[in-house]
Amino acid sequence: MAKISINLKKGNIQKQEDVIIGIDLGTTNSLVAYVPAEGKPARAIKDQEGKNTLVPSIVHFDQTGSIVVGDEAKNKLEINPERTIYSVKRLMGKSYDDVASFQKLLGYRIINEDTEALVKIEVDGKYHTPVTLSAEILKHLKARIENNLGQVVSKAVITVPAYFNDSQRQATRDAGKLAGLDVLRIVNEPTAAALAYGIGLDSSEEKKVVVYDLGGGTFDVSILEIQHGIFDVMSTHGDTFLGGDDFDRAIIEHWMTANNWDTVLLEEDKGFSQSIRLLAEKAKKALSKKDSFSAELKGTQITIRKQDFESMIRPIVERTIESCKKAMKDAGFAPKDIDEVIMVGGSTRVPLVHDMVKAFFEKDLNTSQNPDEVVALGAAVQAAVLAGKQKGVLLLDITPLSLGIETMGGLMDVIISRNSKIPTALARNYTTSIDGQKNLKISVFQGERDLVAHNRKLGEFILQGIPPRPAGIPKIEVQFMLDADGILVVKAKELRSGVEQQITIKSQYGISEAEMAKMLLDSIQNAKSDMEIKALLEAKNEAQNVIVNTDRFVKQHKSWLSEEQISSIVRLLDELKSSTKGEDKDVINQAMTSLNDYATPLAHEAMDKVIQESLSGQDINSTKVD
Ligand code: AMP
Repeated sequence: MAKISINLKKGNIQKQEDVIIGIDLGTTNSLVAYVPAEGKPARAIKDQEGKNTLVPSIVHFDQTGSIVVGDEAKNKLEINPERTIYSVKRLMGKSYDDVASFQKLLGYRIINEDTEALVKIEVDGKYHTPVTLSAEILKHLKARIENNLGQVVSKAVITVPAYFNDSQRQATRDAGKLAGLDVLRIVNEPTAAALAYGIGLDSSEEKKVVVYDLGGGTFDVSILEIQHGIFDVMSTHGDTFLGGDDFDRAIIEHWMTANNWDTVLLEEDKGFSQSIRLLAEKAKKALSKKDSFSAELKGTQITIRKQDFESMIRPIVERTIESCKKAMKDAGFAPKDIDEVIMVGGSTRVPLVHDMVKAFFEKDLNTSQNPDEVVALGAAVQAAVLAGKQKGVLLLDITPLSLGIETMGGLMDVIISRNSKIPTALARNYTTSIDGQKNLKISVFQGERDLVAHNRKLGEFILQGIPPRPAGIPKIEVQFMLDADGILVVKAKELRSGVEQQITIKSQYGISEAEMAKMLLDSIQNAKSDMEIKALLEAKNEAQNVIVNTDRFVKQHKSWLSEEQISSIVRLLDELKSSTKGEDKDVINQAMTSLNDYATPLAHEAMDKVIQESLSGQDINSTKVD
């Protein structure tokens, strides 16, 4: 493996090993950690006051457009919800369709213009993506550790949930790059938790491990099998809307009923709702140590006993145990097969959670590490392994540069990320962009930049004989198979007809280590401008889709749309078309939003008509949308 260090300040490539940091980029909180020296334990970095290691994963935009992250942003959550973005991890790598079901739970605005495109978040007419917002959190963590150590850091290991798919992982990598970090590895959170306990570092060790992770708003359980230093996720289960917040809500409900308070107060009296929420969380934490909790609210004495709290939350904890049962069934294991159970997330401090998990797996739990920090500490251990600071741990063969194909507008779409273990095989689905398209050119590139023009072209071929269909309908799978010698086979297959074509490429042929290092350096130094160009091209591509779909909609529904409606749509369409000739992504996004805000109710009306007509047994072919 090529070991390349980059000094971002000087902009040169250096031989010496620098610090590699571990980052837990969480839904509620994030942390940064590192291993100070060989043989030393990993350490999470605290804030300037030396108090907290946790950084709330919250980004706030103030009136002047400047950005604050962490505790300062959290303070704005109640008073300025539309400018304060939280839970951005839930949006990573997702399309509007994916997140539509929980949009109402978020206080800020998610944009719905092209349902298949990645989501955007609007604040004051500026459009942000989960990647750029996560990059702000990562920059904050990078600055925190740089201040603490008094040196620049540029390399990181970042953790993601085991269930994250390829595009969610790629979005996390992109966020790192935008924050000025060379992301050496994306590691599964349960794997990191196991590493923090030293599990898997001895390559002769074979273990089956359960990682139970109950945070503020999400729950997941993963079953890992570890052999020869390789961590396999055998199964994972969970609920992305279950966590300590539900415990808080149970306490709030209890107090509201016990005191005959009207639930309207929670909606209408901001001061009251914030106070009761804070008190509920305080009570919950106190009950992890004591048998009862009392406080005063609205001049009334409120109390809660541990036994009542436990009976309220038992059904919630029971749901996590059901997930454990399913995960164990999927992995084909029984409790006696499991060697270790590791507890992650602040909510595992609740004694009832501890007891029920212990009873289910019939063994003592690993709780010696701080459950809030364990994932970041494990990421730091993985970083130390990559830096060669961990003795006796073997580094596996990895691919030194990312491999991908060119997509619309000359963008690089990575299929195998840099630093992936090899051999490996990965596939992704694509489609056509023109009605009736029969051929598709597959151009293969290597490199870290967002535009293929800046990367290295490895080869190209044409998939011929795609059955002609409307744009977006054919399903074309592009598969990359990379063997241990760096030989890459790229195969494209149209899944309905089965037509396929492939090429074989020597990916490492004709490139020196110095050239590879330069490509990496360029990608980090140009990350911001690359990402801006990418965002502009993506906005133009989406606008193109919206234009095609709207044109189609107007043609199909001309019969019942009023003249005024048609002329409004045409006017908004023209504005969108002219915006795509410019170079400002926010103007394009704004034009898409305006068109969408106007056309969405009409699209719903069209849908209702189709349903009504089908119920009354009429022929609906004339209004069928393909
Ligand atoms: P995480 O997302 O892992 O940071 O978990 C945060 C959740 O853990 C929040 O719901 C906290 O209220 C909860 N939590 C933190 N400390 C405790 C504690 N001592 N007892 C119960 N819950 C806690």
